[in-house]
Amino acid sequence: MDKKGFLIVISGFSGVGKGTVVKQLVEKYGYSLSVSATTRAPREGEVDGKDYYFKTVEDFRNLIDYNGFIEWAQYVDNYYGTPRKFVEEEMKAGKDVILEIEVQGAMHVKEQYPDAALIFITAPSAEALKERLKGRGTEDEATINKRMKRATEEAEDIGVYDYIVVNDDLDTCVETVHGIIEGRKCLKQYNESFIETIKQDFKN
Ligand code: 5GP
Repeated sequence: MDKKGFLIVISGFSGVGKGTVVKQLVEKYGYSLSVSATTRAPREGEVDGKDYYFKTVEDFRNLIDYNGFIEWAQYVDNYYGTPRKFVEEEMKAGKDVILEIEVQGAMHVKEQYPDAALIFITAPSAEALKERLKGRGTEDEATINKRMKRATEEAEDIGVYDYIVVNDDLDTCVETVHGIIEGRKCLKQYNESFIETIKQDFKN
């Protein structure tokens, strides 16, 4: 591999289980995970600095003004953003960084980092997604409806992504995503200096 760390953007419908997929990728394969900032209230069990950096709207706006985010977006009624410093430092140190963000953010990342791998995790069907949202039990009916409406909009943008992965079986989904990233690293454009070096090696 020639390159420093890779940037991997993982999006997917709300309730599709992408959080669990990402957690497994981090635990099993050591990916570095960017912790986002948000203005939404913590859900039960969520820890500041681990799940999100929970911010006031004012603090969030200040961070925007100071160029503190690689990207930020409004989702349902809240702001979400990817802190710049952590991502840049990790990539510089050669680590592959996962951003778990929604579609507007994914598009902004792609503009700035054309090499980023954009992966969309989907449920097998809209019905399956609604069932999972209900089963989660953390959102009221109105929020579920808002999220389903948002998912309908997000479905329109799936074409932005490089890879589409169905999360039917968790392990299969995790292995598929990891395989995508490993495969992407083998592309010749990311191995040009290696190719030169090995050519030189053989000549010597
Ligand atoms: P949740 O409120 O369910 O934790 O997240 C709602 C949505 O915001 C999810 O689609 C999640 O991927 C997205 N999200 C989380 N962090 C960020 C971020 O830093 N930037 C953007 N653009 N979206 C984010």
